[in-house]
Amino acid sequence: MNQLTHYINGQPVAGRSGRHTEGHNPATGELTRSVPLADAAEVDAAVAAAAAAFPAWAETPPLKRARILFKFKALIEEHQDELAEIITREHGKVFTDALGEVTRGLEIVEFACGIPHLLKGQYTDQIGGGIDNWTMRQPLGVVAGITPFNFPMMVPCWMFPVALACGNTFVLKPSERDPSCANRLAELLEQAGLPDGVFNVVHGDKSAVDALIAHPKVEALSFVGSTPIAEYIYSEGTRRGKRVQALGGAKNHMVVMPDADLDQVTDALMGAAYGSAGERCMAISVAVLVGEVADKVIERLVPRVKSLVVKNGLERDAEMGPVVTQQHRAKILGYIEDGIASGAQMRVDGRGLTVPGHENGFFLGGTLFDHVTADMKIYREEIFGPVLCVVRVPDFASAVALINAHEFGNGVACFTSDGGIARAFARQIKVGMVGINVPIPVPMAWHSFGGWKRSLFGDHHAYGEEGVRFYTRNKSIMQRWPDSIAKGAEFAMPVAK
Ligand code: NAD
Repeated sequence: MNQLTHYINGQPVAGRSGRHTEGHNPATGELTRSVPLADAAEVDAAVAAAAAAFPAWAETPPLKRARILFKFKALIEEHQDELAEIITREHGKVFTDALGEVTRGLEIVEFACGIPHLLKGQYTDQIGGGIDNWTMRQPLGVVAGITPFNFPMMVPCWMFPVALACGNTFVLKPSERDPSCANRLAELLEQAGLPDGVFNVVHGDKSAVDALIAHPKVEALSFVGSTPIAEYIYSEGTRRGKRVQALGGAKNHMVVMPDADLDQVTDALMGAAYGSAGERCMAISVAVLVGEVADKVIERLVPRVKSLVVKNGLERDAEMGPVVTQQHRAKILGYIEDGIASGAQMRVDGRGLTVPGHENGFFLGGTLFDHVTADMKIYREEIFGPVLCVVRVPDFASAVALINAHEFGNGVACFTSDGGIARAFARQIKVGMVGINVPIPVPMAWHSFGGWKRSLFGDHHAYGEEGVRFYTRNKSIMQRWPDSIAKGAEFAMPVAK
């Protein structure tokens, strides 16, 4: 069994708190790792290392910081299969999807390599006689990232490449459910030439997170995870004067208009609802079928859901792997039972599935519910599993009203061949990321990622230019030299003459 360590000041550091958790390979059910759970003293050691490394790192020219990130980018490319395999063995998602996750993380590193350009300030010559004014953005100091299980590579990469490029030092607290990727990233950063202490990893649960929130030297917290924890971290962090961006849960809808291409719709729903066993914050979990299209879509979907290839994600023909833990599987089963009890019509039941040779794995088949209504728990709450709910609505306006009334507003999609409908949808919908004939519209590295409503707490979206703003403070500098200074005290507000 692998004994994980923290990674502090450029070194693997064994856990000392006496607390740990165990992790299984979700495809086989085998116990594969022991993960230390940090206490406040261990978190303090990581923050102290990051604080000590900050002055020299902040003084390092952005171009030199970018060069280290360029080397890191090359190392990720070199090790992409290895990273994807680590992800599949701990998370369960299929290998090709894990490779996709590695690439989406890599894209943020590529974006961060452009930091010399992104940190350019603004300059105004001659705001008054002989006076100039400019602004520059400076790093915050030690910043922390707390990340969820469902993207153990990509979501940390939403944070640390941009934070480091801006001159901050970083403490990552990854999910305790699939923690190994974080340690490998720390090793690759070191190999790329990152100085000790600039990037640290502490493993842990609520105690470690609380220690990060309370630590006076942590200037900012980036969080991605479920909404109750996002709200908690946002309120506790901002109460202490910290900068916080906290991305929460989701319930993403896909509207299908009667004029949509139904083959494309079926493919899109299959990939977006059942890819990664539905454990994506941008997964489509509700299909909103408008008017007469509903029966036609259901007819196409049912055989496809029944024939999903569910296997160990390391097998290259697998379309869907297991869910992350036995507890999470039990939670999803609870939702399926609730859906039946509340009167939704089950069209495909994924509960009985077994994968030969993997009887101890945490597998579920794809489940499809029709005639789901807005009052049902399976509609209101995030299930985060391979369960697609179909809601039937009479027209476009009802689809928009339904989605806008939901408490979450992460991602949404509309499938149509009508440009007017597409435009109205994009403008009227109260959701942060919109796809027109694109089921999972995750913004590219330079466009910033973030939901609305209870899917995000804070003012800044993740990565892109929003990320640069989040991880820097604006400073305005006004300058004049003795030959332009008028003699005598000025008691009136100076204005340009
Ligand atoms: P989670 O909220 O259980 O855990 C996220 C992180 O918070 C982990 O590092 C965990 O250790 C920590 N944590 C858990 N309980 C805590 C507590 N009581 N106090 C302090 N910290 C705590 O989320 P998860 O199950 O790992 O991930 C799935 C969730 O993340 C889903 O809700 C999904 O929608 C969401 N998510 C959102 C986005 C987004 O961009 N909005 C992206 C990915 C995942």
